[in-house]
Amino acid sequence: MAAVRSVKKTVRTVTKKEFQRYLARDGHCLHCGDDGDTLVPQHRRNRGMGGSVSRSAASNVIVMCSEFNGAMEASETASVTAQRFGWKLRQGQDPLTTPVFDSWEGVWYLLDDKFEKRETPWED
Ligand SMILES: [Zn+2]
Repeated sequence: MAAVRSVKKTVRTVTKKEFQRYLARDGHCLHCGDDGDTLVPQHRRNRGMGGSVSRSAASNVIVMCSEFNGAMEASETASVTAQRFGWKLRQGQDPLTTPVFDSWEGVWYLLDDKFEKRETPWED
């Protein structure tokens, strides 16, 4: 009888192929501009936030370096920064209408679900 594996299953919501498309769209970490091999997909809406938006919609995923990705979970300061720049969404925010800030380029973008982005003016 096969042993039941107790390894925690990672829910893979972004495939390698999809990640290549995010890379092509974003080009680098939206926080620090890193374009090395530490980049990971960052989901703007957290699991459990509910709503009708698919977590894996292209507008909900951005490219970040793993360092800042981790910091957002661990540090309140990084988390606040992330919310201010649209990298992390608050309850009720829609990834399609909430722009993200590319702090490397200094430009706000609106993302769509076709792996495209367009510049947008943003006044808070
Ligand atoms: Zn970074």
